[in-house]
Amino acid sequence: AQLERLQKRIAQAGVASRRKAEEMIVNGQVKVNGKIITKLGKKVSSDDIVYVDNKKINEESFEYYLLNKPAGYVSSNRSYPNQPSVIELIKTKTRIFSVGRLDQDTTGVLLLTNDGELTQKLTHPKHRIKRTYAAWVKGIVNEDEIEQLTKPIRFDGEIYFPQAARILKVDQKRQESLIEITIAEGKNHEIKKILDFIGHPVIKLNRDMFDGITIGNLKKGQHRALSEQEVEKIK
Ligand code: URA
Repeated sequence: AQLERLQKRIAQAGVASRRKAEEMIVNGQVKVNGKIITKLGKKVSSDDIVYVDNKKINEESFEYYLLNKPAGYVSSNRSYPNQPSVIELIKTKTRIFSVGRLDQDTTGVLLLTNDGELTQKLTHPKHRIKRTYAAWVKGIVNEDEIEQLTKPIRFDGEIYFPQAARILKVDQKRQESLIEITIAEGKNHEIKKILDFIGHPVIKLNRDMFDGITIGNLKKGQHRALSEQEVEKIK
């Protein structure tokens, strides 16, 4: 089993910060497998049982998943009849939730976790986490409109700050365009509202990237756990 420092294990269990955990060790408040440890270099594996103030610490381990969200699923934890939830697609017994939301008909990159702190960080607009979408829209988008999608847009009492946009494909026959657009806040229905506003209602929406995470080769409805490196990157 993998070894980690005792103070890290205590911190990860949510008992105290690493610094505080070090103090607790030095103070003689920590036991490993029944024996008091007061030296700081101690490493433990998941098989070791750690007690703080004679209480066994629960190894709260966080889980992080990447789902390729299919259409037809809601990103909320409750599922209504005829409205299955994305949670049902993840194989875990842990109570997880989605990191922000995608509309029921939107597909693509969705993170799910039981790590509330990280969720807060990734969804709070002030952190300006980048989300990139591919949107099929009605009509032929032109370069002037693309230019508009790189500047603040104000309507309906709201201000939006799209970051970047480009045209990926134009279907003259159907009179539809595929564009890529990046936003950094994730307001409710942000992409649909912005594209409606410039006169190109969304037909189909897929999230290609969230904070640098892309879908890779996951098919719609498939998921995988994020690697430790991926988790470190988004933390
Ligand atoms: N913007 C939308 O309009 N819908 C989504 O699902 C995500 C971003």
